[in-house]
Amino acid sequence: MGKLKALIFDCDGVLAETERDGHRVSFNTVFEEKGIQANWGVEEYAKLVTIAGGKERMISYFTEHPGIITTEQLNGEYIKELHKRKTEIFIDMSAKGKLPSRVGIKRIIKEAHDEGILLFVCSTSHKESVSELLKSNLGDEYFGWFTDLFCGDIVKNKKPAPDIYNLVKENYNLKGEECFVVEDSRIGLLAAKGEGMNCVVTPSFYSFDEDFTEADLIVSSLGEPDLSGFRIIKNNNKLNPDINCITIPSLRKVLE
Ligand SMILES: [Mg+2]
Repeated sequence: MGKLKALIFDCDGVLAETERDGHRVSFNTVFEEKGIQANWGVEEYAKLVTIAGGKERMISYFTEHPGIITTEQLNGEYIKELHKRKTEIFIDMSAKGKLPSRVGIKRIIKEAHDEGILLFVCSTSHKESVSELLKSNLGDEYFGWFTDLFCGDIVKNKKPAPDIYNLVKENYNLKGEECFVVEDSRIGLLAAKGEGMNCVVTPSFYSFDEDFTEADLIVSSLGEPDLSGFRIIKNNNKLNPDINCITIPSLRKVLE
Protein backbone atom coordinates (compact mmCIF):
# COMPACT_ATOMS: atom_id res chain seq x y z
CA MET A 1 0.00 0.00 0.00
CA GLY A 2 1.01 3.62 -0.38
CA LYS A 3 3.01 5.70 2.02
CA LEU A 4 1.01 8.42 3.71
CA LYS A 5 2.12 11.72 2.14
CA ALA A 6 -0.90 14.02 2.37
CA LEU A 7 -3.75 14.69 4.79
CA ILE A 8 -6.66 16.52 3.18
CA PHE A 9 -9.59 18.08 5.00
CA ASP A 10 -13.04 19.00 3.82
CA CYS A 11 -14.13 22.22 5.59
CA ASP A 12 -17.85 22.31 6.36
CA GLY A 13 -18.77 19.74 8.99
CA VAL A 14 -15.18 18.48 9.30
CA LEU A 15 -13.13 21.38 10.64
CA ALA A 16 -16.17 22.72 12.53
CA GLU A 17 -19.97 22.27 12.73
CA THR A 18 -20.30 25.05 10.20
CA GLU A 19 -23.70 24.19 8.70
CA ARG A 20 -25.71 24.17 11.92
CA ASP A 21 -23.77 26.81 13.81
CA GLY A 22 -22.41 28.99 11.01
CA HIS A 23 -24.18 28.99 7.65
CA ARG A 24 -27.69 28.56 9.13
CA VAL A 25 -27.10 31.33 11.65
CA SER A 26 -25.67 33.63 8.95
CA PHE A 27 -28.76 33.19 6.76
CA ASN A 28 -31.00 34.02 9.73
CA THR A 29 -28.94 37.12 10.51
CA VAL A 30 -29.36 38.40 6.94
CA PHE A 31 -33.09 37.76 7.05
CA GLU A 32 -33.31 39.76 10.27
CA GLU A 33 -31.16 42.60 8.89
CA LYS A 34 -33.35 42.86 5.79
CA GLY A 35 -36.67 42.49 7.63
CA ILE A 36 -37.42 39.19 5.89
CA GLN A 37 -39.92 37.09 7.85
CA ALA A 38 -37.94 33.86 7.89
CA ASN A 39 -35.88 32.04 10.49
CA TRP A 40 -34.43 28.62 9.72
CA GLY A 41 -34.54 26.30 12.74
CA VAL A 42 -32.05 23.49 13.26
CA GLU A 43 -34.53 20.86 12.04
CA GLU A 44 -35.86 22.87 9.13
CA TYR A 45 -32.30 23.47 7.91
CA ALA A 46 -31.74 19.69 7.67
CA LYS A 47 -33.87 19.75 4.49
CA LEU A 48 -32.10 22.80 3.09
CA VAL A 49 -28.65 21.32 3.71
CA THR A 50 -29.36 18.70 1.06
CA ILE A 51 -29.51 21.49 -1.56
CA ALA A 52 -26.04 22.43 -2.85
CA GLY A 53 -25.36 26.17 -2.76
CA GLY A 54 -26.62 28.97 -0.54
CA LYS A 55 -28.44 30.91 -3.26
CA GLU A 56 -30.16 27.70 -4.31
CA ARG A 57 -31.25 27.07 -0.70
CA MET A 58 -32.89 30.50 -0.48
CA ILE A 59 -34.59 30.15 -3.88
CA SER A 60 -35.99 26.76 -2.90
CA TYR A 61 -37.28 28.03 0.45
CA PHE A 62 -38.84 31.25 -0.87
CA THR A 63 -40.43 29.35 -3.76
CA GLU A 64 -42.01 26.94 -1.29
CA HIS A 65 -43.06 29.82 0.98
CA PRO A 66 -44.50 32.40 -1.44
CA GLY A 67 -45.21 35.93 -0.24
CA ILE A 68 -42.19 36.36 2.04
CA ILE A 69 -40.24 38.08 -0.75
CA THR A 70 -41.66 39.25 -4.09
CA THR A 71 -41.41 37.27 -7.32
CA GLU A 72 -39.20 40.03 -8.74
CA GLN A 73 -36.85 39.68 -5.79
CA LEU A 74 -36.82 35.91 -6.15
CA ASN A 75 -35.83 36.10 -9.80
CA GLY A 76 -33.51 39.06 -9.70
CA GLU A 77 -30.28 40.28 -8.15
CA TYR A 78 -31.82 40.34 -4.67
CA ILE A 79 -30.92 36.72 -3.88
CA LYS A 80 -27.32 37.37 -4.93
CA GLU A 81 -27.25 40.42 -2.68
CA LEU A 82 -28.57 38.43 0.27
CA HIS A 83 -26.00 35.73 -0.38
CA LYS A 84 -23.14 38.19 -0.57
CA ARG A 85 -24.11 39.63 2.80
CA LYS A 86 -24.56 36.12 4.23
CA THR A 87 -20.99 35.24 3.19
CA GLU A 88 -19.67 38.39 4.90
CA ILE A 89 -21.48 37.45 8.10
CA PHE A 90 -20.14 33.89 7.94
CA ILE A 91 -16.55 35.09 7.42
CA ASP A 92 -16.95 37.46 10.35
CA MET A 93 -18.26 34.63 12.57
CA SER A 94 -15.30 32.46 11.54
CA ALA A 95 -12.79 35.24 12.19
CA LYS A 96 -14.28 35.88 15.64
CA GLY A 97 -13.84 32.25 16.68
CA LYS A 98 -17.56 31.52 16.87
CA LEU A 99 -17.12 28.18 15.07
CA PRO A 100 -14.71 26.14 17.17
CA SER A 101 -12.73 23.23 15.73
CA ARG A 102 -14.18 19.75 16.02
CA VAL A 103 -12.45 17.42 18.47
CA GLY A 104 -9.00 16.23 17.36
CA ILE A 105 -8.55 18.57 14.39
CA LYS A 106 -5.80 20.74 15.86
CA ARG A 107 -3.94 17.77 17.32
CA ILE A 108 -3.84 15.75 14.11
CA ILE A 109 -2.75 18.79 12.06
CA LYS A 110 0.25 19.20 14.37
CA GLU A 111 1.04 15.49 14.22
CA ALA A 112 0.90 15.52 10.42
CA HIS A 113 3.07 18.63 10.20
CA ASP A 114 5.66 17.17 12.60
CA GLU A 115 5.90 14.08 10.41
CA GLY A 116 6.32 16.02 7.18
CA ILE A 117 2.90 15.09 5.81
CA LEU A 118 1.45 17.70 3.44
CA LEU A 119 -1.75 19.44 4.57
CA PHE A 120 -4.57 20.61 2.28
CA VAL A 121 -8.20 21.72 2.38
CA CYS A 122 -10.58 20.82 -0.46
CA SER A 123 -13.92 22.57 0.02
CA THR A 124 -16.81 24.08 -1.89
CA SER A 125 -16.80 26.93 0.63
CA HIS A 126 -15.51 30.40 -0.10
CA LYS A 127 -11.70 30.55 0.27
CA GLU A 128 -11.83 33.46 2.68
CA SER A 129 -14.30 31.58 4.88
CA VAL A 130 -11.95 28.60 5.05
CA SER A 131 -8.87 30.76 5.73
CA GLU A 132 -10.54 32.74 8.50
CA LEU A 133 -11.84 29.58 10.13
CA LEU A 134 -8.38 27.98 10.09
CA LYS A 135 -6.62 31.10 11.31
CA SER A 136 -9.00 31.83 14.17
CA ASN A 137 -9.22 28.23 15.37
CA LEU A 138 -5.62 27.16 14.89
CA GLY A 139 -3.56 30.36 14.86
CA ASP A 140 -1.26 31.73 12.17
CA GLU A 141 1.52 29.20 12.74
CA TYR A 142 -0.70 26.19 12.11
CA PHE A 143 -2.40 27.99 9.22
CA GLY A 144 1.03 28.44 7.62
CA TRP A 145 1.58 24.68 7.64
CA PHE A 146 -1.11 24.16 4.99
CA THR A 147 0.47 23.66 1.59
CA ASP A 148 -2.62 24.75 -0.34
CA LEU A 149 -6.35 25.44 -0.02
CA PHE A 150 -8.54 24.38 -2.94
CA CYS A 151 -11.82 26.20 -2.43
CA GLY A 152 -15.07 27.50 -3.89
CA ASP A 153 -15.52 27.59 -7.62
CA ILE A 154 -11.99 26.41 -8.44
CA VAL A 155 -13.52 23.41 -10.23
CA LYS A 156 -16.65 23.42 -12.34
CA ASN A 157 -17.90 20.05 -11.19
CA LYS A 158 -18.51 20.09 -7.46
CA LYS A 159 -18.44 17.08 -5.10
CA PRO A 160 -19.47 14.24 -5.53
CA ALA A 161 -17.39 14.80 -8.70
CA PRO A 162 -13.77 14.01 -7.76
CA ASP A 163 -12.35 17.05 -9.61
CA ILE A 164 -11.29 19.03 -6.52
CA TYR A 165 -9.31 16.04 -5.20
CA ASN A 166 -7.78 15.52 -8.63
CA LEU A 167 -6.30 19.03 -8.36
CA VAL A 168 -4.26 17.98 -5.30
CA LYS A 169 -2.91 14.93 -7.11
CA GLU A 170 -2.08 16.82 -10.29
CA ASN A 171 -0.53 19.88 -8.65
CA TYR A 172 1.54 18.03 -6.08
CA ASN A 173 2.35 14.86 -7.98
CA LEU A 174 0.62 12.57 -5.51
CA LYS A 175 -1.04 9.21 -5.97
CA GLY A 176 -4.52 8.60 -4.56
CA GLU A 177 -3.24 5.87 -2.25
CA GLU A 178 -0.77 8.33 -0.69
CA CYS A 179 -3.59 10.65 0.43
CA PHE A 180 -5.94 10.39 3.41
CA VAL A 181 -9.05 12.55 3.27
CA VAL A 182 -11.25 13.57 6.21
CA GLU A 183 -14.87 14.04 5.12
CA ASP A 184 -18.24 14.24 6.86
CA SER A 185 -20.67 13.63 4.01
CA ARG A 186 -21.50 11.04 1.40
CA ILE A 187 -20.82 13.43 -1.49
CA GLY A 188 -17.38 14.21 -0.07
CA LEU A 189 -16.59 10.53 0.47
CA LEU A 190 -17.54 9.73 -3.12
CA ALA A 191 -15.38 12.59 -4.42
CA ALA A 192 -12.32 11.32 -2.50
CA LYS A 193 -12.92 7.72 -3.54
CA GLY A 194 -13.31 8.86 -7.15
CA GLU A 195 -9.60 9.75 -7.07
CA GLY A 196 -8.62 6.51 -5.32
CA MET A 197 -7.88 8.26 -2.02
CA ASN A 198 -8.31 6.80 1.45
CA CYS A 199 -11.12 8.36 3.46
CA VAL A 200 -11.98 8.62 7.13
CA VAL A 201 -15.49 9.91 7.75
CA THR A 202 -16.33 11.95 10.86
CA PRO A 203 -20.11 12.37 10.43
CA SER A 204 -21.44 15.80 11.39
CA PHE A 205 -24.77 16.88 12.86
CA TYR A 206 -26.59 16.84 9.53
CA SER A 207 -24.84 13.87 7.91
CA PHE A 208 -25.14 11.28 10.64
CA ASP A 209 -27.64 9.06 8.82
CA GLU A 210 -25.89 9.08 5.44
CA ASP A 211 -24.45 5.98 3.80
CA PHE A 212 -20.67 5.76 4.22
CA THR A 213 -20.22 2.19 2.95
CA GLU A 214 -17.13 3.06 0.88
CA ALA A 215 -15.24 4.66 3.81
CA ASP A 216 -12.01 3.11 5.07
CA LEU A 217 -12.84 4.24 8.57
CA ILE A 218 -15.84 5.91 10.24
CA VAL A 219 -15.37 7.53 13.65
CA SER A 220 -17.51 9.83 15.79
CA SER A 221 -14.68 12.40 15.64
CA LEU A 222 -10.89 12.26 15.47
CA GLY A 223 -10.93 12.18 19.29
CA GLU A 224 -8.39 13.27 21.85
CA PRO A 225 -6.17 11.06 24.01
CA ASP A 226 -7.60 12.54 27.22
CA LEU A 227 -11.27 12.88 26.20
CA SER A 228 -14.04 10.32 26.41
CA GLY A 229 -16.87 9.92 23.91
CA PHE A 230 -14.78 8.73 20.95
CA ARG A 231 -16.40 5.89 19.04
CA ILE A 232 -15.26 3.79 16.10
CA ILE A 233 -18.31 3.26 13.87
CA LYS A 234 -16.55 1.28 11.14
CA ASN A 235 -13.04 -0.15 11.30
CA ASN A 236 -11.27 -2.31 8.75
CA ASN A 237 -10.07 -4.53 11.62
CA LYS A 238 -6.60 -3.03 11.58
CA LEU A 239 -7.17 -0.71 14.53
CA ASN A 240 -7.40 -1.74 18.15
CA PRO A 241 -11.07 -1.10 19.10
CA ASP A 242 -9.96 0.30 22.46
CA ILE A 243 -8.14 3.37 21.10
CA ASN A 244 -9.59 6.74 22.08
CA CYS A 245 -8.43 8.87 19.16
CA ILE A 246 -7.20 8.71 15.58
CA THR A 247 -3.50 9.52 15.22
CA ILE A 248 -1.18 9.57 12.21
CA PRO A 249 0.09 6.07 13.18
CA SER A 250 -3.59 4.92 13.23
CA LEU A 251 -4.07 6.20 9.68
CA ARG A 252 -0.86 4.45 8.60
CA LYS A 253 -2.14 1.24 10.15
CA VAL A 254 -5.34 1.47 8.11
CA LEU A 255 -3.16 1.65 4.97
CA GLU A 256 -1.11 -1.46 5.80
MG1 LIG B 1 -18.59 18.64 4.52
